[in-house]
Parts: sequence; structure tokens; C-alpha cells
Amino acid sequence: MCPATPNECDLYPDVHDALPALRRAGFRLVVVTNQPEVARGIQTRAGVEAIHAWLRGQVPLDEIRVCYHDDGECGCRKPQPGMLLADAAIDLARSFMIGDRWRDIEAGRRAGCTTVLVDRGYLDAPPCDPDVTVSSLGEAAAWILARAGATREHAP
Ligand SMILES: [Zn+2]
Repeated sequence: MCPATPNECDLYPDVHDALPALRRAGFRLVVVTNQPEVARGIQTRAGVEAIHAWLRGQVPLDEIRVCYHDDGECGCRKPQPGMLLADAAIDLARSFMIGDRWRDIEAGRRAGCTTVLVDRGYLDAPPCDPDVTVSSLGEAAAWILARAGATREHAP
């Protein structure tokens, strides 16, 4: 569920280690989020922005990209890859998409990223086909860092 205000937000504790570790390794940290509640009149754009301002105060993020549309209105609502393709300077083949919903994994797959499913037990089928499944963001970061290190070691 989407929180309505920053007061209802909380982060998994391991996020505070995982994101700085990824950033130290040279990754750019971009959040891509569907917010159809705005198009549906359940949430306001200002409400979403307040939550994102709070989030930026908690963890290091380079960018937050938002789809404010509902199904069928755009090319950016995940599982469509529009938000991931928005910055041509990012090498998607060397990027990782971390998500806990099938829409995240499918968007990452379509954009050509390596995909990491954080399985929190959400039963929002259809099932997806991630490159790896982990149980927390901390595990996701560890897997990515190990893989990125291996790639560097094998580079000429
Ligand atoms: Zn959109």
C-alpha cells in the first residue's frame, strides 16, 4: 500500500546501509515509482512530493522518477520501461533494477537491466522472472556488489 503522508512512512532498517554501500561502489541511485493514486484522485501530487522529500532526507538518492498516470495512459507506468529509459547517459546493461513487485522486474527486464526481486511475499501475480531473488534490500545490495566486483576483476 502507498502511504498517504510522510508520517505513515518507515524504511526497512537495512536500507540505511545498503544504499550508501551501493553509492560508494559508484552506482547512481534512481527510484522509479508508479503513483496511479494521483490519477485516481486518491492521493495528490503534493502528497507524493512530500513523501519523496522525506525519503530524500533519509537515504542518499540521485533521482526519483514518478509515473502519475493510470493504466494505458502513458509509456512510463511499470511494467513499461519508460522511466528507466529516460536518461540516455545511464548504461542500462550495467544497471540493476531492484523491486518487490512483478511490475518492477518486468520493467527492468524490458529496459535490459539485471533484475533483483526482493521477495516480501506479495501475491500480486503474474509471476515474474528475475535474475535473482533475495529477501531484503541488504541482500540485494550484497549480491549486486559481489557481481559488480567480479565484473571489474574480469575486465581487461
Ligand atoms: Zn506514466
